[in-house]
Amino acid sequence: MYMILMEILSEITALMQEMIRNKCVNPPGGEMRSIRTIEKYLQSYGIEPEIFEAESERGNLLAVMKGVGNHPSLMLGPGHVDVVPVENEEDWIVPPFSGEIRDSCLWGRGALDMLYIVASQVVAFTQLHNEGFTPRGDLKLLVVADEEAAGTVGASWMVQNYPDKVQTDYLITEAGGDPIAENRLTYLYGEKGTAWTRLRFKGVEQHGSAPFKSDNAVVKMAKAIKKISEYQPPRDTSVLKPFIKGMGMGRITRGLMGNRWFLGLILTLLSKRNKKEAAFLHSLSQMTLSPNVCEGGAKVNTIPGQACLDVDVRILPGQDEEYVRHHFRKALGNLSSEAMIERVPLEMGGDYSAGNKSDIHSPLVSIIENVVRDLRGSDYALVPMVSPGATDSRFFRRAFGTNAYGFSIHDGSLTTAEIMSLFHGTDERIPLRTIELTYLGYLEIVKRFLG
Ligand SMILES: [Zn+2]
Repeated sequence: MYMILMEILSEITALMQEMIRNKCVNPPGGEMRSIRTIEKYLQSYGIEPEIFEAESERGNLLAVMKGVGNHPSLMLGPGHVDVVPVENEEDWIVPPFSGEIRDSCLWGRGALDMLYIVASQVVAFTQLHNEGFTPRGDLKLLVVADEEAAGTVGASWMVQNYPDKVQTDYLITEAGGDPIAENRLTYLYGEKGTAWTRLRFKGVEQHGSAPFKSDNAVVKMAKAIKKISEYQPPRDTSVLKPFIKGMGMGRITRGLMGNRWFLGLILTLLSKRNKKEAAFLHSLSQMTLSPNVCEGGAKVNTIPGQACLDVDVRILPGQDEEYVRHHFRKALGNLSSEAMIERVPLEMGGDYSAGNKSDIHSPLVSIIENVVRDLRGSDYALVPMVSPGATDSRFFRRAFGTNAYGFSIHDGSLTTAEIMSLFHGTDERIPLRTIELTYLGYLEIVKRFLG
């Protein structure tokens, strides 16, 4: 039995290595290279997946195991095979597209985000096929392109063009499984929305040599930046509460953190000790506004007639565009009549998606928790988390009301902080033991859910 597992694991790592070497950096993507890698692997076991090429060399793959009953369906994925670019290859300990195994880890761009999950899901699906598993509901495997951009040739495109094929009641995708505290692993049941907002200011263009009482668009923008950065949107602890409860915090701490006023105080104190942790908890407790790009003025001797400010806005589930505009107007106060509030245009990399979430407790979540206990120890518990960033889950929640969860099983050799910094980071890698646990976890979850 162990030999068989060893062989399976070497198939997972081989798939990962090939996908890392395929270098599907987005942009431009070229994800068909890894889609073909997976297609070939599945075909070698007699599985015929469907390929959907949205654009030349950018495509998606779907394999389906038909269910024999009326049980809710489950999808492994969407797993994305595109990866983000590497800024400085020289900073890496191993070349980022070599897929080297060193120090019990598989290294490379995409290893953590999210090729270990893709490969584990592909091989778990194949293993179930090989075992002659007959699911009670449909089991689907979906691998996509373009998650690192807006999904327009990936998950979003599949949901729009082939809704019947990719519709599913439940799904498991990235990320989750972080060892957030002793004997505790996270699962993602929701994500914050993205509402990138552009503020445009107008002034009167004139010669810069006589600025007295001039109408300067850049000055207005500067005042707006100050107001926005100092603005405190309302705190909302609806997402934070289940998280801190899941962390096993005592009732008093929970009570204090669940109180909007005390929370502000706690975050300030915590930021002095651990800035990253404070920023994370802060992001889960409110809409965040970060003024990140500004443009204005063309020439040093001309008072600018236009200025433009792009703000990274992240909204909690339940907060919408009207909420965003309302708080911009409030933050800007008397400047608000001077600002035109718009979305950052799509062609400028703009993105708008509402926050969204699935059932925090569902039959699948219970099964995941039981599997974790069997694999890691009976004292393990899951911590429900909303991701501050967006994933492909949003398309499925929006279109089909899918219960979508981000889950894998980290082995604990990397801390949650290390995992976070390796996402899109230098020396991205994944422990081999994490790959093994994640694979075993998926296999068991599917068997218990659909068996
Ligand atoms: Zn990812």
